[in-house]
Amino acid sequence: MSFTNKRISPIVPPTPQPKKFVCTRCGSCCLGYGGILIDAKAARAIAGHLGLTPAQVENFYLKYEGRGMYSVKNSPGNTGSCLFYSGEKCLIDPVKPPICKAWPFLYGILYCIDAFDEAKSICPGLKDMTHEEFLADFRSRGLAAPPRSYSSLLQLGDTF
Ligand code: SF4
Ligand code: SF4
Repeated sequence: MSFTNKRISPIVPPTPQPKKFVCTRCGSCCLGYGGILIDAKAARAIAGHLGLTPAQVENFYLKYEGRGMYSVKNSPGNTGSCLFYSGEKCLIDPVKPPICKAWPFLYGILYCIDAFDEAKSICPGLKDMTHEEFLADFRSRGLAAPPRSYSSLLQLGDTF
């Protein structure tokens, strides 16, 4: 038997890529009641996008909640989907409300395990992620802080 002096490269296992939230555009988060709040500026942007007047948008799609804020109405059907959800898509996607742009990177989902589990149960983009992976994904996006208020939501931008 003879041994050669060849160097054998060690087999290095590939570094696992960190998991990232990816939206599948399934629309599940547009179903259900309440929680979509916007201010007058966002309402005007929606009106411009739809080619309607702000008054038309306010009358048909919105309910005034006080303190300059409006909630988006739900459709009357069984799903209770957001009234802007139609034909399995968001009618106002380019100007959608800040909370829709930020979701699921919201304060409650980031810092409350129960809220994270609830979000996971409806969102295919989260289904294979642990809470730690979700937090790591949020931190990797270089965002200063999770949004706690409407004004901080405005600074977060679009997450998907
Ligand atoms: S505004 Fe658009 S993204 Fe937001 S809940 Fe309604 S349909 Fe979904
Ligand atoms: S955020 Fe989640 S629930 Fe909403 S459309 Fe994307 S994958 Fe579906």
